[in-house]
Amino acid sequence: MNSVSPAGPDAVATLRPQYLADLAGGTDRFLEPRRTECPWCGGARLKQRLKTPDLVQHKPGTFVLDECQDCHHTFQNPRLNSEGLDFYYRDLYDGLGEERMAATFEANNGGLREPG
Ligand SMILES: [Zn+2]
Repeated sequence: MNSVSPAGPDAVATLRPQYLADLAGGTDRFLEPRRTECPWCGGARLKQRLKTPDLVQHKPGTFVLDECQDCHHTFQNPRLNSEGLDFYYRDLYDGLGEERMAATFEANNGGLREPG
């Protein structure tokens, strides 16, 4: 568990150099290989449902959601690897984006459910 001192006015300025270092190699290294099968049912009929930039923190990179045409499971594809998870979420868990994180979870609850 890495700990960062509580977020204050200087937190962003303190973190910025680390972000620039992380991004020097691009964002592809934060992603696992793209899946060709549904993680739930193993179906291969995947359809891109949404392609979006990081709407929460406006960090660089693109997120793609695929939907399985067999069981209608929607999932991020490719997923973030552990390095990517650390990059995109460390501040949220450290407190910088706590409120927005909660808002995102709420949006996801209503946003990705299939009608009917
Ligand atoms: Zn499926």
